[in-house]
Amino acid sequence: MEGFSKYTNIPFVVPFAATFAEHLISAHPTTTDPFALSKVTVWVPSQRAVKSLREALMAEAHKQRKQGLLLPEIRAMHLGEEDAELLAFDPALSGELALNPVPDIARLLYLARQVQYWQSITDGRHHIVRAYESAVSLKKLSDRMKIYGISFEQLKDLAPKDMATHWEKNIAFLKIVLEHYPNWLEESGTHDPAECRKKLLEAQAITYTKTAPKGAVYLAGFTDTVPAGRALMRAILAHENGRMVVQGMDVAAMTSERGLPPTHPQYGLKELLQKLEISANDFTHVKAATPQAKGREQLLKQVMLPEGQTEDWLKNKAPDEAYNGVDYIPAASPREEADAIALMMRETLETPDKTAALVTTDRRLASQVADRLKYWDITVNDSAGEGLLRRPAGSFFTLVSAVAASRFAPLTLAQLFAHPLTYLGYSKSDFKRKAHRFEALLLRGPTPDSGLEGLHERLREVAHDRELTDEDTQPLQEMLGQLAITFKPFLERGKASLKQWVSAHLEVAQTLANDETLTRKDSFLEQEDGEALYTCLQNLMHGHNDSDGMSLSDYQQWLEAFLGQVEVREKYAQHPRLFIWGPLEARLQTADKIIIGGMNEGTWPNAIKPDPWLNREMAAELKLPPMDMATGLNAHDFSSLFANPDVTLTRAVKDGGTPTLPSRYLLRLEALYQLRSEESLHSFMRSGGKWIMMARKWATHLTKPAEATPQPIAQTPVEVVPIELSASSVRTLMTCPYQLYGQKVLKLQPLDPFDQAPDAADKGNLIHDILEAFFVGEKAWGKPVTQDTLADAEKHLIKIAEEKFTSISSPASRALWLSRFRHAAKQFVAQEAQNHEQGRAFWLAERRGQMNITKAPRDVIVHARADRIDRTPNGAVLMDYKTGQTANTSAINSARDPQLAIEALLLKNGKYFFEGETVNALSGVELWKVGGTGDSGYARAVNYTHGQRNADPDALAEKAEQGLTRLVNYYHEDNAPFKAYADPLAQCQYCDFAGICRRHEWQKDDEAEAE
Ligand code: SF4
Repeated sequence: MEGFSKYTNIPFVVPFAATFAEHLISAHPTTTDPFALSKVTVWVPSQRAVKSLREALMAEAHKQRKQGLLLPEIRAMHLGEEDAELLAFDPALSGELALNPVPDIARLLYLARQVQYWQSITDGRHHIVRAYESAVSLKKLSDRMKIYGISFEQLKDLAPKDMATHWEKNIAFLKIVLEHYPNWLEESGTHDPAECRKKLLEAQAITYTKTAPKGAVYLAGFTDTVPAGRALMRAILAHENGRMVVQGMDVAAMTSERGLPPTHPQYGLKELLQKLEISANDFTHVKAATPQAKGREQLLKQVMLPEGQTEDWLKNKAPDEAYNGVDYIPAASPREEADAIALMMRETLETPDKTAALVTTDRRLASQVADRLKYWDITVNDSAGEGLLRRPAGSFFTLVSAVAASRFAPLTLAQLFAHPLTYLGYSKSDFKRKAHRFEALLLRGPTPDSGLEGLHERLREVAHDRELTDEDTQPLQEMLGQLAITFKPFLERGKASLKQWVSAHLEVAQTLANDETLTRKDSFLEQEDGEALYTCLQNLMHGHNDSDGMSLSDYQQWLEAFLGQVEVREKYAQHPRLFIWGPLEARLQTADKIIIGGMNEGTWPNAIKPDPWLNREMAAELKLPPMDMATGLNAHDFSSLFANPDVTLTRAVKDGGTPTLPSRYLLRLEALYQLRSEESLHSFMRSGGKWIMMARKWATHLTKPAEATPQPIAQTPVEVVPIELSASSVRTLMTCPYQLYGQKVLKLQPLDPFDQAPDAADKGNLIHDILEAFFVGEKAWGKPVTQDTLADAEKHLIKIAEEKFTSISSPASRALWLSRFRHAAKQFVAQEAQNHEQGRAFWLAERRGQMNITKAPRDVIVHARADRIDRTPNGAVLMDYKTGQTANTSAINSARDPQLAIEALLLKNGKYFFEGETVNALSGVELWKVGGTGDSGYARAVNYTHGQRNADPDALAEKAEQGLTRLVNYYHEDNAPFKAYADPLAQCQYCDFAGICRRHEWQKDDEAEAE
């Protein structure tokens, strides 16, 4: 192939791996010597590049119909810091050099412990997760210093005089910890991994210096390197058959006297060539094949021009062809962006053999696109990986320790029970059934005391309240016993070493994962995520020598922080034509269509995390390379992607309603379009309009039902229409019959929430109890309240309240409600004294009354509980207390709130008794507000008395009778259906049946807006 020499540049617009592979096969023909190609050695920067080049070679061999080709030796130099996890030592050389690199986990543990100790003596803080994060960044700093040949001694020379206290403290800590670190390594008989890597590279360089390689040796795809790597490169290139192939060199930028900033894509390469003393002019260049490619190369150079040099935009305009094949999708939201990308990728499959790749650093976008593609049964794995904690194995394993660390907190235990990997020794169906009952009875509702003892106590309470038999509670007892045995390895320890915790953790997880056949104990360690988890656990078990113990809670936090860093990559089920890559995975790869997703600042280029240990000045003083070089590398990645003939840039203009900032590369591109013409810019900005429209249509299609859902109407046989109606059931039947159908016909009960806090209903019940206890029972006041006994009566009432409020577990709610009640108590006793003066006396409290309404086919029973009934010379006064919102006369008269009216009817029919005595003359009907502020601590909100227009108690009872008769006729005789009526501001607000009646699908827009 033309254009290759000792130093060769493959421009961005020419596919690197494919072109280089073609060159290798044609430059080392196997026709006369079948081993010609296998004698070649290729050094590439990373393990990923090894894979890409190997695939490209196989594709090229297939294209050239060369079967059984012996491939060259491809070796990774592992130079990038991001490749640290792939650090693979040459076992033979490593043995020769007697290298024993310390396991990563041991190093992290050592450093985390030092950080924790430092935190405790300087700030008195103890934060495991932060200590772990600091240890990770400290490990990176230590590696960088080693890689770039900076000794820990040099930290001592950092002048702290102008530095803030924070940095001074950091330096003091770094000096201590990094000074002791070599001693720790020596004691453990291990070596620093970065040091090992350096020694290996140096040894490789010596080998090349001493012995000339037999075949050609290529350095391919390097953009920068570290000192030890440079020595190796120098040794290779010193040989006649040592060659270098680089990607995307811009000779003009590299040789410009104006220099390059570290953020420029050519900065790393320029530095590398300078250090190797190679001139950019020594390179030959593979030619771009098409006018579009030539133009795009020119356009790329302009996009990447350093600041202050953009006047060149006017001098060297890219030809029109450069702009062909570039589209832009400015989506309204990340969701719309993901939809548009998925649609584009889906469309690619319509063309035989065409490939497409989404490349982004935004992992959320990557996983959203993968999810959208599943809609068409297309599985595309994000090759940058997915967090282990988001995968079944990771989430199961951490839930197990979270349950133990939280001492069986209800929500955490329910999450563990709901996890597909949990069996607890039962068959799946048996476990599901038992776990469901366990959750409903023991885990939901108010928080039980912590630990299994708390759950036992809750079981006793539930059994008592619900009158459960031993047979009912036996499966729950059995599960509690099973949990106690399973979690024993965790619960029997106070402090333990990391190794002991991991071992106990594994044992507990295995018992939980096992089913009744006892064959599933290791099921969570299968699949890619299980294997990744197993590797981590092996490292934790064997890769450290910690002697200090840690508590279970510390272990739990530590483990989550540790596993939170682990990414799982799928080995199989990669789609053959669609790909999702991170920029690292995309290096040296190509596809027919490239979609660069998330074109916002912070993603392209990726935001650089500041080093928490050294600021820029300190790093510069130590002669560490600038952090901005990472931006330069990102610009290099972007350039190679943007060079693709068919490229689409996408971004979300808002995220969570907040405007986002477009990527600097995009802004420059827009400026270049504008320089061409306004029209050109306009068409670029609208080039992805088709995909946005399709994404919006798709979203509508997915969220709206195909046909409008009708308002539900349930027709039931008359035999199942409820024959017992409380006042509140009557209210529901009047407002939304469908809700009553759910409650009484389908008999659906909402589950209690987890960790249920005391709510308004609890407060109401308590206040009713307190006011009842003032008149009835052992602690009753027992005499009339008069002006002389006001103070004592008030004290008595408050004492009752204080006792009753002890049942509220939340101290804040208890204090607030009690203070409100104290205020109400004063007004309550004053009112009682006034009642006494007017000849009105307490008669009954919390009394149920009921009556039959005779209708075919069966009698219907209507019942209501009166909060209180007083007697006066003119008859009874019916009273209801309200602690929340109170009804008004209009709601009562229109039967929207029928409670008082039904009570009035029952009273007039003599349905409230006391010691065989009844009253059926109604003097008044009242609604009292209790617990308000100011004058409404205890105040009459509604008052029906004789002779009042629209508020006559007898007329109210009469209306109730007529209304109930009509209602019962309607449902029991006419067998009317139960229809749903939405009232979003009233009953729908607190209704548990919204998901069943599917209100949001049929409710009219204006009603919904009222919400
Ligand atoms: S959500 Fe509204 S419409 Fe639906 S059942 Fe409940 S009250 Fe009726």
